[in-house]
Amino acid sequence: MIKAMIFIDGSWLYHVRPYLLNLDGRQDFELDYRALPILIRNYLVEQTGAPVDLVRTHYFGTIAVNKPGHDNLRERQFYEMLNKRCNYQTEIYEFDFKNREAGRRENCLEVGLSTAAVYNTFQPGAYDIACILAGDIDYQPMIRQIRNMGKRTLLVGVKGANGFYPVHPRMMEDPNMFDYPMLAMDEHLDKLHYERTEQMRTCDSCGKEELSTFTSEWFYCKSCRDEYKQLRSRQTPVEG
Ligand SMILES: [Zn+2]
Repeated sequence: MIKAMIFIDGSWLYHVRPYLLNLDGRQDFELDYRALPILIRNYLVEQTGAPVDLVRTHYFGTIAVNKPGHDNLRERQFYEMLNKRCNYQTEIYEFDFKNREAGRRENCLEVGLSTAAVYNTFQPGAYDIACILAGDIDYQPMIRQIRNMGKRTLLVGVKGANGFYPVHPRMMEDPNMFDYPMLAMDEHLDKLHYERTEQMRTCDSCGKEELSTFTSEWFYCKSCRDEYKQLRSRQTPVEG
């Protein structure tokens, strides 16, 4: 049995999502975060000819705090969905705007991912193959270190087209970085498409039942959401 761990650069994946969405052409295309680890596991089974145990899916993301006019509720709901419904191990870094329009660029996410990947490399028997969803060449020293420890590496990327190439060319061409051909997500859209199903949800604020496709842990009905939006627009100073 081969053990694999997945390390996802959430900023990169977020950046890639609209491209996958456009490529699919369906207005309702959504990335199925539960299907993604399964796709990766099946690909590794194909590549290695051995059964693969997916030990963990690590997801690294950022969240904006104290950003003027910005409510991060949707981001919090998204990360909660990844953690509770998709069993991702999430590590989310706060990006504090300190109530200013622009914030300083921070690299917590990249360093966090690299630290976790290298840490696990040094835990005996933790995993054999690191599957990396990222496109930045800054990860090269991390990948080299992982391979120096005798682990194998797989790049889960995107081929891209029409001027959008989110994976650094060296990541794809350097023979010393990855042990398997890149798994291109754009070639497997059929397996990554999330089918939304409507279900009856109970509003956590007013208790009303409503048919919804929302899958978040907590749920607010349409009228409560509208009310909240109005309240916010009155509280937040007008931008511009
Ligand atoms: Zn309600």
